[in-house]
Amino acid sequence: MDTITCSIDDHGIATLSIAIRDQPVNVLSAAFRCDLREAIERVASDPAVRGAILTSAKSTFIAGADLKDPEFARTLSGKDERTLEARLAHMRSFGDTLRRMETSGKPFAVAINGSALGGGFEICLACQYRVIVDAPGVKVGLPEVTLGLMPAAGGTQRVPRLLGIAKALPLLLQGKALSAADAVAVGLIDATAPAERLIEMCRDWILSNPDASQPWDRTGFTVPGGTSSDTPEVAELLLVTTKNLEQTTHRNYPGPLAILSAVDAGTQRSIDAGLDIEIGLALDLWSRPGAGNMMRTLFINKSWLDKFPKRPGHVTRQPLTRIGIVGAGVMGAGIAQAAAKAGIVVTLLDRDLEAAQRGKATCAKSLARAVERQASTREKADALLARIHPTDKYSDFSDCSIVVEAVFENRDVKAAVITASEAVLPTTAIFASNTSTLPITSLARHSERPDRFIGLHFFSPVDRMPLVEVIRGEATSDETLAIALDLVAAMRKTPIVVNDGRGFFTSRCFGAMSNEAAALLEAGIDPALIEQAALGAGMPVAPLTLSDIMGADLSLRVDDQARADLGSAYVETPGIRVRRRLALEHGRKGKAAGGGFYDYAPDGSRQLWAGLAEIWPVAARQPALDDVKKAMLFSQSLEAVRALDEGVLEDPVEGDVGSVIGWGFPAYTGGVFSLIDTYGSAHFAAECARLAKMFGPRFAPPAGLVAKAQANAAFVEARL
Ligand code: NAD
Repeated sequence: MDTITCSIDDHGIATLSIAIRDQPVNVLSAAFRCDLREAIERVASDPAVRGAILTSAKSTFIAGADLKDPEFARTLSGKDERTLEARLAHMRSFGDTLRRMETSGKPFAVAINGSALGGGFEICLACQYRVIVDAPGVKVGLPEVTLGLMPAAGGTQRVPRLLGIAKALPLLLQGKALSAADAVAVGLIDATAPAERLIEMCRDWILSNPDASQPWDRTGFTVPGGTSSDTPEVAELLLVTTKNLEQTTHRNYPGPLAILSAVDAGTQRSIDAGLDIEIGLALDLWSRPGAGNMMRTLFINKSWLDKFPKRPGHVTRQPLTRIGIVGAGVMGAGIAQAAAKAGIVVTLLDRDLEAAQRGKATCAKSLARAVERQASTREKADALLARIHPTDKYSDFSDCSIVVEAVFENRDVKAAVITASEAVLPTTAIFASNTSTLPITSLARHSERPDRFIGLHFFSPVDRMPLVEVIRGEATSDETLAIALDLVAAMRKTPIVVNDGRGFFTSRCFGAMSNEAAALLEAGIDPALIEQAALGAGMPVAPLTLSDIMGADLSLRVDDQARADLGSAYVETPGIRVRRRLALEHGRKGKAAGGGFYDYAPDGSRQLWAGLAEIWPVAARQPALDDVKKAMLFSQSLEAVRALDEGVLEDPVEGDVGSVIGWGFPAYTGGVFSLIDTYGSAHFAAECARLAKMFGPRFAPPAGLVAKAQANAAFVEARL
């Protein structure tokens, strides 16, 4: 065996130690799955062996699936030419191995010496005794659902049989990994132990449990807490959970629903019948595009971007020890906290010391909440806060290697900040703007060193949003890009690197949905239908709701700036036209101002403002919900293609990842470009042509889409 070494001690106990060569961590490779089967057969059939201990020779136990497995490649491409039987047999073989292990008649114990996730944890669940190392950072769990999948090697059957359905559901449906202590507390694992005692504990257990079996293989076993067929509370729980899921996911995510079905139907039958049900549902799930899309974008391509492929390799890495931030508002405070968390000393400057101190107080509040949730400790929070130094003096920037500005979105304010910062910064330092809309090249005109000027567009709330859009201005040097990316890396965020343009990539594409909503409203489409369509298509917030939350002031200010910058080249968008009318003619500026597209009642309820129909009368004939859903998503994908055609975006992979983790484009689509690929570029272009006839020429396919459609080629591939 290539991936497992087997040693047998004097008691006749085999230790099966997993070490997959040429891989930094153990994964469920095809070779390992074969070796595991063989190892189990040997243990089962050798009369001299009393039982076996599974463990890993690496620091993780097993991290999960093998991304280089051909099975994954087939799912990702959506092209699996094997027969249904062949696919079923392939998927079933690993589960059969685990079933053989737990019914072999010999005791199997697992010494979980590091994190065990996905299929790796399903192996543990099939062992009759589980002990885990008591070390920080070690996690176990079944995260499949977060990638559009479901556990398919017994997870949906063994977890409810161990814990009961009520405790199993959150684990399976949220996919959250548990610490060693939590896994023991909930009952998934028998005990924790120091690393050096793991094997010994397993050995002792095997010696005293020669006839061990799993609870579900003993006569008279019942699922703890009952099943839906014998316990009305469980039936009710499953029904309510299904309803809630359908409502919140609009049936766009079949993964959690499949998990619910597997748990419900499976627990009413024997474990073997349950495992069969699980495999059938998993196969169906894998055959749909959503799973491949989510895996490719959220896992494979995001991981690829997390390796910073666009960092210019020839620039030597310099340690980032001190940075300056101007503007201690929502964004400045968030960026300060993220930098200080990365161990960087932050000088936080605002117009006066009080404002700067308010920024630090914002960080203190957010950290206090983290300590309360046990996401951090008091000591860590204090150490982090001690690294943030509020000030109102630019001279405190004299030893900073980067300054990030997050002041008001106003060109003159930003220009003054650039000049004041550069007057004191070392000449080697770089200046980054967190502007969300002003072109970087135009801001760099206020700089003495435009080659050391760059855009670093963070998202709000900074501590939770994983994306940073890095914008190269015309003069931005490779060295500046490298230093900026090193800051992003230190903050453990995912970067996309784009070229300059109004709204860059993310604000521009995200804005496309609000524009589309406004254009539809002007064309007489029912606003309730528009809102319902956006949510139904999977957007986290509907466009008119969002406009009300953001308020008209900010977008009108941004538009005034664009108008001033562009002069005769300025074109008013439907989004701005509608907003201006609503805000200026009807005094409805948004939620904070008392009302916008919606009326808000003191009890928190709301309804669409009746006056909308007087300004934009609702047409007698309304389009189908499905076409409005398409308008909501396609408008964003088409804007992304235009950004690619114009060279603002360089790589569709960055567009996909950026859209999902940046502004919440629905994950099941895989992102703005994967949505097109899921239809097939030719089919998507034909649909756009149809929508253009129905809604207007803005849906006409741009050049880049036409070219792909003619070649029937895809925009995105998996960067393994
Ligand atoms: P904010 O109003 O919360 O904070 C701005 C801060 O800048 C205030 O504390 C203000 O006192 C300070 N300031 C203003 N003029 C200053 C000056 N001359 N010198 C020093 N400090 C000054 O604004 P925000 O939401 O944090 O946005 C800041 C920037 O980040 C804007 O460019 C905005 O477009 C961008 N941005 C915002 C978001 C968001 O969701 N809020 C997201 C991405 C980018």
